[in-house]
Amino acid sequence: MAGNREGDGINTRLAHIGNDPHEYHGFVNPPVVHASTVLFPDAATMRSRNQRYTYGTRGTPTTEALAQAMDELEGSAGTVIVPSGLAAVCVPLFAFLSAGDHALIVDSVYYPTRNFADTMLKRLGVEIEYYDPLIGEGISKLLKPNTKVVFTESPGSNTFEIQDIPAIAQSAHAAGAVVMMDNTWATPLFFKPLDYGVDISIHAATKYPAGHSDVLLGTVSANESCWKRLFDTFSTLGACAGPDDVYQVLRGLRTMGVRLGHHQQSALEIARWLEGQSGIAQVLHPALESHPGHALWKRDFSGSSGVFSFVLDSGEREAHAFLDALEIFGLGYSWGGFESLAVHVSLDDRTMEPSYSGPVIRLQIGLEDLKDLKADITRGLVAAGVQSA
Ligand SMILES: *Cc1c(COP(=O)(O)O)cnc(C)c1O
Repeated sequence: MAGNREGDGINTRLAHIGNDPHEYHGFVNPPVVHASTVLFPDAATMRSRNQRYTYGTRGTPTTEALAQAMDELEGSAGTVIVPSGLAAVCVPLFAFLSAGDHALIVDSVYYPTRNFADTMLKRLGVEIEYYDPLIGEGISKLLKPNTKVVFTESPGSNTFEIQDIPAIAQSAHAAGAVVMMDNTWATPLFFKPLDYGVDISIHAATKYPAGHSDVLLGTVSANESCWKRLFDTFSTLGACAGPDDVYQVLRGLRTMGVRLGHHQQSALEIARWLEGQSGIAQVLHPALESHPGHALWKRDFSGSSGVFSFVLDSGEREAHAFLDALEIFGLGYSWGGFESLAVHVSLDDRTMEPSYSGPVIRLQIGLEDLKDLKADITRGLVAAGVQSA
């Protein structure tokens, strides 16, 4: 496969990973296989199930193409494709936690991950403890004999704290725990968790891989030691994704490098520009030199994506005036699509509530022209009364 050529650049690899066209009559893209039943040639093969595909829930040429592409990007032993990013969080937690176990979850985690842990996992008898995203190797003090999972997400959702992933992974492994990371922000293009000691890398493929705000999908990629258990749990749950959505994400991957490059550049330029604007208390973007996690980000990450936050130097009323005045930025959840979005972030769920001097607003910088986006933000700041027209 062309995608496996040693030394090829990332965009070359994205253009060719996953399926081999010559395995399917030379067509560049893999078939979108709609399948439950797969036929066996004879009773003996049916009995032994000794053939490449056996049933739709367990994999098709379509899901396999995306899974292989993710394995190539993540350096993983295997990847399961699930119907949403949230399912990609829940399936590995189900796989590695049982009643009586203890799990450590970063306090800056994506809220629905916390909700799953606090409701479902607690009900099933798992003890949940949240830790400071800046804890680093200090996590060893929180590890107990029954700690089975350390869940990380870096940068943190909405507030963008950078975690010291290698230090956390080392401590967790010394205590026998599995390390999981929600790597949605960086994508495997800007951070490769398994190279830094993480066992299981999770993506909301809904975001940059899909790229167009029209598909929900998740991927979970595991190293050799965790792969079998992850796949067994995935199969047990029957949490497979629909073929059209899987195909759309593979299609999105082909252009992800080009899109991300644009998101990265525009977001950085707007973040730098915002730092110099009146009415802005702080810009929370790890690629800015002013960010407290900048050195760690620079050590481990090879780029930054298009989502960051800023702190408005005022109150809630001004934050709403800012958001209501935006004409290009839409008010909506999720990110990774072509269009710019803004959200007034809630930090009420945090157990260690970070202290910011004003409302935190998260921006997803889309593919629109920079001058238009800046003008839109200026419109918001003027409406908020923190800048004069
Ligand atoms: C969006 C998101 C998810 C969930 O993805 P969905 O496909 O929307 O369920 C998980 N983790 C992070 C960090 C996200 O931003």
